[in-house]
Amino acid sequence: MSIRSRTKVKDALVSTDFDREITVKGWVRTRRGNKSIAFIALNDGSTIKNIQIVADVPGFPEELLRQVTTGACISVEGILTPSEGKGQAVEIKAKSIDLYGAADPGTYPLQKKGHSLEFLREIAHLRPRTNTFGAILRIRHAMSYAIHKYFNENGFYYLHTPIITGSDAEGAGEMFRVTTLDPVNPPLNDDGTINYRDDFFGKETNLTVSGQLEGELGALALSEIYTFGPTFRAENSNTPRHLAEFWMIEPEMAFYDIEDNMDLAEDFLKYLVVYALEHCCEDLEFLNNMYDKELLLRLNSVIKSDFERITYTEAIDILNKSGRKFEFPTDWGSDLQSEHERYLVEQHFKKPVIITGYPKKIKAFYMKQNDDGKTVRAMDVLFPRIGEIVGGSQREEDLQVLDARIRELGLPREELWWYLDTRRFGTAPHAGFGLGFERMMLFITGMSNIRDVVPFPRTPKNAEF
Ligand code: ATP
Ligand code: MN
Repeated sequence: MSIRSRTKVKDALVSTDFDREITVKGWVRTRRGNKSIAFIALNDGSTIKNIQIVADVPGFPEELLRQVTTGACISVEGILTPSEGKGQAVEIKAKSIDLYGAADPGTYPLQKKGHSLEFLREIAHLRPRTNTFGAILRIRHAMSYAIHKYFNENGFYYLHTPIITGSDAEGAGEMFRVTTLDPVNPPLNDDGTINYRDDFFGKETNLTVSGQLEGELGALALSEIYTFGPTFRAENSNTPRHLAEFWMIEPEMAFYDIEDNMDLAEDFLKYLVVYALEHCCEDLEFLNNMYDKELLLRLNSVIKSDFERITYTEAIDILNKSGRKFEFPTDWGSDLQSEHERYLVEQHFKKPVIITGYPKKIKAFYMKQNDDGKTVRAMDVLFPRIGEIVGGSQREEDLQVLDARIRELGLPREELWWYLDTRRFGTAPHAGFGLGFERMMLFITGMSNIRDVVPFPRTPKNAEF
């Protein structure tokens, strides 16, 4: 039979086209029964649900059925019938079973359920076959699609910014070097430093930490663009919210000020949550029941609330009046830490919070300066359980102000000639933000470790698979 005649489990489960022969293919989750009848729960990843295969044991070769065990991959031809048993509407009465690949019960690691998430990280090559990771990967797909759908519907163009970058001025984090030089014996300058002229690009290059600077070039021509791609940070931060390789969504818009930027971020985040609730409900219900009983409540509450908008100065004031003892300082000028962010969101406002007007000395050079000379038009969106989920700003469009700030910070001004050109020629007010895709996935799925919302996590001392 050709592959086209395969029915997906998801479709078979809702079909009422009974008494017809269909073919399903997938991996055996469990098998139970006795000498005369076998019940096989089959899953092909199209849904969290399994389809029940009923096989009349004497009608099949003994050697074949012996190998139909948890993890084995099979193809089943049979008749779709309303189920007599509880727990499913339909089942398949098997006429023939083909074995694609057995899975030795003595060594297949995913016997039955209830493995810890830590253990599953060690077998990331097989964990997509669990209910949990099947659900997460389907949701991840749906969210990726929803992101493109949202921007497409709103007239944004998808811009592909480079992954290998020749600029290290963004300052968003430590970078991974990209080089073809011999690490044992690199060419050296007279003063002993590495001579990058002989390197592949003839200069020092790194993996990008953000597509923003190039995103701005796109916005100052196409008006509204977004990027959605991998970003890399070589920070040694072993936390449940940081990856060394993560995906970021970065919209950048000409003619937007900081208020427009906040409106967009709030609308976009709510759209994604609504999309998940509408399109991933079975998977979300599973995660709600297994890991986080508040998940669905929290998702529903976020779409109904108006995000609280406060300034950094107001945030500091609230923290200082809270009577709480925080580990990190809360004096004006200190950066907000995760403990502060979560206090504001979870204890004080009990809803998402957008903070603006940060001190310029803790934010990046490109952010638009306020008239007070001390603060910039930055914005961070803080979410329950996550803390910072979005970081963005209105950008400084004034060449003189931007140039002065670059000099003040001692940044490599010559390397930014192309960036400064946009302010030199037809500059425009503009703004944008970055949403960490895996932070959003943490929020949507209710998982607590970022290593569990990406197929193959990259973290310090871990690049397996
Ligand atoms: P944090 O303070 O949480 O380390 P950041 O201020 O360094 O984050 P930005 O440079 O503003 O983050 O990046 C934009 C967004 O990218 C963040 O709001 C967050 O959602 C996400 N993000 C940043 N660093 C990481 C990381 N290491 N792993 C996963 N997501 C990240
Ligand atoms: Mn940030």
